[in-house]
Amino acid sequence: MKSLVLEEKMKLSLRDFPIEREEVLGVRDVRIKLHTVGICGSDVHYYTHGGAGIFQVKAPMILGHEASGIVVETGAEVTSLKVGDRVCMEPGIPDPNSRATRMGLYNVDPAVRFWATPPIHGVLRPTVVHPENFTFKLSDNVSFAEAAMVEPLAVGVHAATKAQVKPGDVALVMGAGPIGLVTALSALAAGCARVFVSDIDDTKLELAAKLGAITPINVARQDVAKEILAATDGWGVEIVFECSGSPRAAEGIFDPLCPAGRVVFIGVQMHDINYDVGKAMVREARVEHVFRYAHVFPRCVAMLSSGAIDVKPLITRTFEFEDSVRAFEIAASAPKGEVKMQIALPQ
Ligand SMILES: [Zn+2]
Repeated sequence: MKSLVLEEKMKLSLRDFPIEREEVLGVRDVRIKLHTVGICGSDVHYYTHGGAGIFQVKAPMILGHEASGIVVETGAEVTSLKVGDRVCMEPGIPDPNSRATRMGLYNVDPAVRFWATPPIHGVLRPTVVHPENFTFKLSDNVSFAEAAMVEPLAVGVHAATKAQVKPGDVALVMGAGPIGLVTALSALAAGCARVFVSDIDDTKLELAAKLGAITPINVARQDVAKEILAATDGWGVEIVFECSGSPRAAEGIFDPLCPAGRVVFIGVQMHDINYDVGKAMVREARVEHVFRYAHVFPRCVAMLSSGAIDVKPLITRTFEFEDSVRAFEIAASAPKGEVKMQIALPQ
């Protein structure tokens, strides 16, 4: 079976791509047959730009990091998983001995090896060898498609955790893309009474409004701060989650924030942004940044299983693996109304 290989910028192919070194099974590893892989904005960015910041694609690389599958082989010392288990995988493997990992901050370990981040291969391929510790068993009622949403959902859950959501908080999520929507769902699951979601795409906002106690704001027509202050008796929101990556959104980020509110930056900002220290100061705002996630995959699986979070409405399109080049072409055109597109591998 073939792999989806990014040969270079704007050039993808489905071809045999043996990577023997990565396929050696260690005693604490499992071998997983891939089932469903989500297309992430970062995969699309590598395809269209050939890199991001310090991560440049210098040699052919397999894409994909949002994945679920079935365990087909276990290492000699694996105890928590067995052949046939349905699983999802955390795509970043830190150095277990690094200082950051020993402190529990493994997501910011500078040595972390993350799928489909050059030069590490992703998982749009038949099988992958992965550490038992970063592989999580699914309950029977969580589908492979939902399980492949755990990776993006983990970002939202990590952000809600960083924000220290309290029951009854009101939040604003800037950006109604996949990360914005999983963040809104995570904020509600964490106890927010209500979440505003802002974007310029009406179809995404319509979808957002159906997900729960969510009020959409179209920034093409409405002023976010004005709408929020009007809806909160002039107080503002306790938390702003920035998921748009838009410098303009970031510029006004403190305007809708209440005194002592929290701001969490999640969206990738490609360039320096204006940050109004004066407005942050008079509110004693607490500002947090997240980089991926840590320690949240089991929580995400548990919430999908219990129904505390439903990610199914976010999966708007599924492609067969043989159509995956076309899937990326479509994803690169940023089609309106699409939230998460996934690729189903042949079983
Ligand atoms: Zn992703």
